[in-house]
Order: sequence, then structure tokens, then C-alpha cells
Amino acid sequence: MENADLRAWLLARARELGFARVGLASCEPFEGERSHLETWFREGRGELLPYLDPKGLLDPRSLFPAARTALVGFFPYARPEAVPGAAPGSLRVSRYLWGADYHALMKARFQRLLEGAQEHCPGLEGRICVDTAPILERQMAVRAGLGWQGRHTLLIAGKGGSWGFLGVLLLDLELEPDPPFAASRCGSCSACLEACPTGALAPGLLDPRRCLSTYTLESEAEPPSEVLAAMPGARWVAGCDRCQEVCPWNREPIWGDPALWGGPSPLHTLSAEELPRNTSQWKKVTRRTGLRRVRHRHWLTNLARVLGK
Ligand code: SF4
Ligand code: SF4
Repeated sequence: MENADLRAWLLARARELGFARVGLASCEPFEGERSHLETWFREGRGELLPYLDPKGLLDPRSLFPAARTALVGFFPYARPEAVPGAAPGSLRVSRYLWGADYHALMKARFQRLLEGAQEHCPGLEGRICVDTAPILERQMAVRAGLGWQGRHTLLIAGKGGSWGFLGVLLLDLELEPDPPFAASRCGSCSACLEACPTGALAPGLLDPRRCLSTYTLESEAEPPSEVLAAMPGARWVAGCDRCQEVCPWNREPIWGDPALWGGPSPLHTLSAEELPRNTSQWKKVTRRTGLRRVRHRHWLTNLARVLGK
């Protein structure tokens, strides 16, 4: 198959597999991000995320030296009826944690895409990156023309909104890239900055040391006192969606497919008092979900902090 035909096949097949937005980008290093990223690390913002390595992040080829093209996919997950904290007395669990483990789901789709491409182009090699490999997914998505990074730093896929997982398939073949997304469309809005319960956002800059997602999912470190004080009022016990909930681009976004995500689990509908406390209940309720990566011990700490105990 000619490269132009393979390109068209890849984009069409990725859409069939559920990626609502898809684009292609080159794998050149992100030189334009270098000073911003180095400052971010120098200021200690990455101290709670030790797996992030600035050198690797800047160069997609550090993951796969043969990479020439990155296919970036946006996979929508939120649903209009699935609203964290809507059930009386319930605590808030981030939308992306409602349902099947997205790592497995996205990887399987990219695997099918890669295998299909290999049938058309024998010898083609690729590497799948779904949140588990250090890559600047959002910047790559901008480069592939999917959207822009909002002031909350997440990718906004235009009218599609920001409720979507990003995944990247690196390929060792040069394919024509899509034009990068030109500029931010946040305009004069600052809703996310104002709504953040812990003041973790400055325009285009997130401080993970103040973000609720860091302390409820990524790190068991003790939050600073002002973050701790905000937890009972915010009621986010795993992740936090507040900066996305207020974004005007999420008023009519692309919604996820309920067939993929299933219904809410007891974690979303039980009141705080009824939520699982012991290990076996926790394991049962989080089986095959994205929440499994939160240790039971961490979950209990989150519960205690949110309940102010
Ligand atoms: S996820 Fe929550 S705490 Fe983190 S920046 Fe967004 S609103 Fe703030
Ligand atoms: S809430 Fe406003 S400033 Fe924040 S990302 Fe959305 S449009 Fe941009």
C-alpha cells in the first residue's frame, strides 16, 4: 500500500475503533517546550511525580528510536448522566475512573490498529503509549491538529471538549503530518482558574503540589495544610474534574459510549458512610476499573481526609 493510502486507512480505522478525533504528527523533539519544562522541573513541580523525566518527555524517540510519525487519538469517556457527586450523600470520583480500565481498553484498540496497518504494510513497527509511557501527549495532540491546551493545561478538542483520553501510536514510517492547531481559543475566559478548589492553576500552568488529583491518585504524600483544608468542601475522593466541569467547551462535548463504559459502580452511588472500607470490598468494587491503581491504604486516607477525620 502507498504511504498516502496507508495514511487514509489509519485515520479511518482509528475512527472506527472509537477515536473521535485523530491526527498525525512528526516525532521531532519538542524544542519549543524545553525551557518551559525545564523551569517547571527546576521549580520542583514534578517532585511528587518521580516517574517523569524531562529529557525523555522532550524527545518521543527516546521511547522508540525508529519513530517517524505519531498517530494521536482522542477517546471520549464522559456521559451526560454520569455526574460525580450527583447521588445523595455520595463523594466525587473523577469521570475517567467510572468504568473499565482505560489503559487496557485503549491499548487493545491501538493494538488492533497496528496489526491492521501491518497487514497493509509488512515490516511496519510501532509502539503504543497510553499514559504508561512518558510522552507529551497533549503537546503531541496539538501538533497533530486535534486542539489546543486550555488554561487548565488539558487538551481541548474544539467543540469536542476535553472529556477524552489521549493515546499515541508511534510508527517507524514517515507519513504526511496534519497541520498543527494554530492557537488557543480560551479567549478571555478564566473559569477553570477561578473554580480550582486549591488554587493549583495559573494560566497554562498546573502545580501538581496543589492539585487534588495528585493527592487522591498519584501520591500518598501529605498535602499542604491549605490543600488538606479544601478536601472536605470539594468532596473529590479520587481524581478531580472541577476545572473541566466549568469549561465552556464542555457544554456540548463529544460524549463517551455507554456500551464501552458500563453503568456507575457502587462507588458513585453509595453515600460516603456506605463506601467500601475493608480490603476485599475495595478489591471487588474496583475490579477491572481504572481505580485499581489506587491502593486500598491510599483510598482509606482519601476517605478520611475528605470526611475531615
Ligand atoms: S484537577 Fe482539581 S485541583 Fe487539580 S487543577 Fe483541576 S480543579 Fe484544580
Ligand atoms: S475554562 Fe476557560 S480558560 Fe479554562 S480551559 Fe476552558 S476555556 Fe480555557
